[in-house]
Amino acid sequence: MFILTAVKDHSEVFTITQHMSREQLLQLRNTSQFTCPQCENPLRLKIGKVVIPHFAHIVINNCLTSFSERESPGHLKGKQQLTEFFARTGCEVAVEAYLPKIAQRPDLLIQQKGKRFAIEFQCSVISSEDVAKRNQGYKSINLPSIWLLSTPNHIHELSMGISYVKLSKFVQSFINKHQVTGATIITYDTTTEQFVYISQLMHIGGTAFVAKVLSLSVDQQTFPFARVKPLSIPDRQRYWHIFQQKRARYLRNRIFSSKFGAQDRFLKQCYVQQIRPENLPLYIGFPIEDSETIQDHLVEWQMALVCGLSRSKIDLKYVSKEWIEMFTVNHCKVFNRNKAVEVVSRYCEFLLELDYHTFQSITHQPMNQINLFNHFHKLIVAKRCEN
Ligand SMILES: [Zn+2]
Repeated sequence: MFILTAVKDHSEVFTITQHMSREQLLQLRNTSQFTCPQCENPLRLKIGKVVIPHFAHIVINNCLTSFSERESPGHLKGKQQLTEFFARTGCEVAVEAYLPKIAQRPDLLIQQKGKRFAIEFQCSVISSEDVAKRNQGYKSINLPSIWLLSTPNHIHELSMGISYVKLSKFVQSFINKHQVTGATIITYDTTTEQFVYISQLMHIGGTAFVAKVLSLSVDQQTFPFARVKPLSIPDRQRYWHIFQQKRARYLRNRIFSSKFGAQDRFLKQCYVQQIRPENLPLYIGFPIEDSETIQDHLVEWQMALVCGLSRSKIDLKYVSKEWIEMFTVNHCKVFNRNKAVEVVSRYCEFLLELDYHTFQSITHQPMNQINLFNHFHKLIVAKRCEN
């Protein structure tokens, strides 16, 4: 509906920037004609009080730009601020450039040292299929894409530093593992003109993560984007502390949040093992890479797995891929089956490394706090090497 780029007087591409004054634009409106770069229909230059100056189709038609729902005042503002940012870092920037081969129009198309990138600044919630579809389009013409998510409202000053954060499935779909050290989401906040990194994400159950949240003002940002430093030792201890605290709270409350009464699988398993949920050993409910693909809480599926092993009397050393697949299908609600199977395998490897014995009770395992702490550290450190 709103766009920033138009064809001026049927001759040149014209983009509204932050630096054009209202007077300048009012003058232009009287002296020039603007048309849509795509459908060539006339556009109106709107200079109102609420939304920043922009173009809109005079007559709504089926032009890609006129029915686009991606445009909101924040989106327009973000495109303008980011245009300036990329230009300052030495990129050539085309705003709302149309790519006829794939019929797509990225927010920005930038070029730096001969390399092009499509930039998407995402403000509204769209389906992960839509994200995948757009990425496929870019991929088909060998154009790398970079998605910047508008900083979610609940991530603000108070979340800076090592924090416990909840991320919706939509926000999670922007987790990037290669761009910056660790699993990171880079967001941009148009109000504070800051890049906000939700970095070194560690899933600890449900939609909950521990992350290092950092902000970087647009003036200090570079392109390629600045990378987050590896976690320091105190940082890692803070991760460890938050993980344990949240896990303990979940287990304490678990007995009151039973949804299935006597049919509650988890509570039943605790009963059989003669252990109160809050006394479960720490290796049950342990963070495992990519575990957000399993909807059940870490504690629940890991307890089911440990009990399943002991019930079927399988030595962990000989557990088969088929058994893991069966377990995943029968006991876990998952978003991605293959990924979930990998996560479960990873948990089995973790137990093996820690010398887990299937034939001993779950409370009499050789795992001690130090072993687990070291493993936890490895998990964070390993994430740095994935590039
Ligand atoms: Zn149009």
